[in-house]
Amino acid sequence: MDFTDKTVLITGGARGIGRATAIAFAGRGARVAINFRSNNEAARETVEMLSGEGHLAIRADISQPEAVRQMVDAVIREFGQLDIVVNNAGIFEPHPIDSSSYEAWQESWNQTLATNLTGAANVCYCAAQHMIRQGGGRIVNVSSRGAFRGEPAQPAYGASKAGLNALGQSLALALAPYHIFVGTVAPGFVETDMAIGYLESDAGAAIKQQSPLNRVARPEEVAYAILFLASEQAGFTTGCILDINGASYLRT
Ligand code: NAP
Repeated sequence: MDFTDKTVLITGGARGIGRATAIAFAGRGARVAINFRSNNEAARETVEMLSGEGHLAIRADISQPEAVRQMVDAVIREFGQLDIVVNNAGIFEPHPIDSSSYEAWQESWNQTLATNLTGAANVCYCAAQHMIRQGGGRIVNVSSRGAFRGEPAQPAYGASKAGLNALGQSLALALAPYHIFVGTVAPGFVETDMAIGYLESDAGAAIKQQSPLNRVARPEEVAYAILFLASEQAGFTTGCILDINGASYLRT
């Protein structure tokens, strides 16, 4: 996979899966813009890890529509083109139905959907306006196994990722005439800050045993699948949802 002369925007690119994806794209020749919400230090470290020149870190809260517009405009101003967008930023906040107040429930649903679903949809909208004029592009959305398997303590997260799957499929149909291809990856648990509390808890061993490989994914394994879906040769995968869960949840 060669991304020489390609430009990439990765939301939530400063840590975890986003960071691994940025490193993988830069290592294959791309110029990369990593978006982050607040962790300046992680963003600075990530840019320093990228091979090649001309990479960017852009602070923006993707749950805010105007911030998304400004972020995409800034990337296009700086790079002159935008070939690939990875909608990776996401949050996974507990709000169990049997012990959350109604106010906390509202807050979790609003924040989770605004980040994981509407935020990604707004990034798609702003990027697509440019990609349509440019004559093509690639969008890869980072969903989750939870969309299929359920998330008992984070139901808004499961719903947001199911919505993201549907968004990707609808946009694959709408954008194919413009040579814009849309793919989705659906990881199970991955070794990142988001999951570390669960993996190091008493439930950690059982989580690993969900896979016959007795482990969870490494961020680099998810990154590899993202690069595949973004590659020139993978255009006909448009609309697909690729499971990356070590056979921990099999669907037909
Ligand atoms: P992570 O380590 O928690 O990193 C999340 C990244 O998203 C951070 O860079 C964070 O920015 C950014 N972010 C969060 N909210 C944002 C917002 N409103 N605006 C801009 N950036 C925002 O997460 P991860 O594990 O790498 O997860 C990446 C994606 O994979 C998510 O969509 C997640 O749902 C999905 N996923 C993860 C797992 C897992 O087990 N880890 C499993 C399935 C799917 P800051 O650095 O500034 O905080």
